[in-house]
Amino acid sequence: MTHMTLKERDKKHLWHPLTQHKLHPETIAITKAKGCVLTDEDGKEYIDAIASWYTCMYGHCNEFITSRVSSQMQQLDQVVFTGFTHEPAIKLSEALIQILPKNQNKLFFSDNGSTSVEIGIKMALQYHFNKGEKRNTLIAFEDGFHGDTFGAMSVSGLSVYNGPFADFFLDVKRIPTPNGTNHEAILNALQSLLETQQVAGFVYEPLVQGAAAMKIHDAEGLELILKFCEKNNIVTVADEVMTGFGKTGKHYASDYMETKPDIICLSKALTAGLMPMAITSCSQEIYDAFYSDEIGKGLFHGHTYSANPLACTAALAGIELLQSEEIQNNIIRIKASHEAFNLRIKNHPKVKSTRQLGVIFALDLNTEMARYGNLRDKLFSFFLDKGVFLRPLGNTIYIQAPYVVSDSQLEKVYQTIEEALSIV
Ligand SMILES: *Cc1c(COP(=O)(O)O)cnc(C)c1O
Repeated sequence: MTHMTLKERDKKHLWHPLTQHKLHPETIAITKAKGCVLTDEDGKEYIDAIASWYTCMYGHCNEFITSRVSSQMQQLDQVVFTGFTHEPAIKLSEALIQILPKNQNKLFFSDNGSTSVEIGIKMALQYHFNKGEKRNTLIAFEDGFHGDTFGAMSVSGLSVYNGPFADFFLDVKRIPTPNGTNHEAILNALQSLLETQQVAGFVYEPLVQGAAAMKIHDAEGLELILKFCEKNNIVTVADEVMTGFGKTGKHYASDYMETKPDIICLSKALTAGLMPMAITSCSQEIYDAFYSDEIGKGLFHGHTYSANPLACTAALAGIELLQSEEIQNNIIRIKASHEAFNLRIKNHPKVKSTRQLGVIFALDLNTEMARYGNLRDKLFSFFLDKGVFLRPLGNTIYIQAPYVVSDSQLEKVYQTIEEALSIV
């Protein structure tokens, strides 16, 4: 086997996520990662300009985090979280509640973004069930993305991801995202929905729809929808799996709205990319609907690795970093840097539009491209050849680099994007 590269050996037994292997037979074997740099088996380096799907926001193999986790590893590795508890989970809960929107008071653990949404949906549905109300419909945004399990797929917009399963979905009604001019139309649509449907919950990505190519909607419109839900006792579930932990310029995208969600889903940057984990947080009011003398009113949902002590330790270290002056200053620096880049690029003839919120920057090209089409692939390969890991979504190029990205690394990312414009 030693004469074969990792890339070649990979082909034998591995089936990769979100991949049509017949059309995309090539993978790149990464052997190490440090800060913002990934290194492949040939020693080629790539700037990780999307923080490995927005997880490693404090940089890969961050020593502050890895050293904490490695000492935790010697102390307590894993224990059942039903009937047992442990200090890493308790400390994490104390730290996280401090920085979550003020109405959040309880945390429920799972292990990935999709399951955090699944749990949010179950909380919303069972909340009404426990109160003796039959409410079966969920509301979601068109083009949303909430993960690949059934509940999460159901509330996602229809696409290549969930198309084959559409017949098996939960009952979901979709509304457009607010765009500044359609607020009244959305509220009217919601009002008429209530005439025919028993609406249990509203599941949404606040302000930025990641998988929909970093589409940004307006806070004012979302505020109106949240107020409508509050008035009609519709449980609101904010999927902050992508937007959480500083990316929008505030700790959570929900911090931009006055009306707070009942439930919040967190994962991705939660553990700084070190361990898989997710949390679904909720208000005391949601929790109270499950607190009862009747066993059946409890939330009978659990995952084997719930609140894994190593993942909790990584998350706590990540939250400490997020609140540090260094990271907060970096967020301001990156935001300003993207703003300057925007001025440089927004009038380029190949650029249709640009958008930014916090450290999230995206531009749409004038050229139409299929989400996984040839031109998009050509662009993706171009970036990799140049040593930049950017993953275009159709004709959208977006940047979401770790907070520790240096000015010169950012400049290289910008220049590579500018060069790419000449090949499209
Ligand atoms: C990535 C993502 C998910 C799914 O998380 P997984 O850990 O991949 O299951 C859900 N919601 C949003 C907004 C995401 O960006």
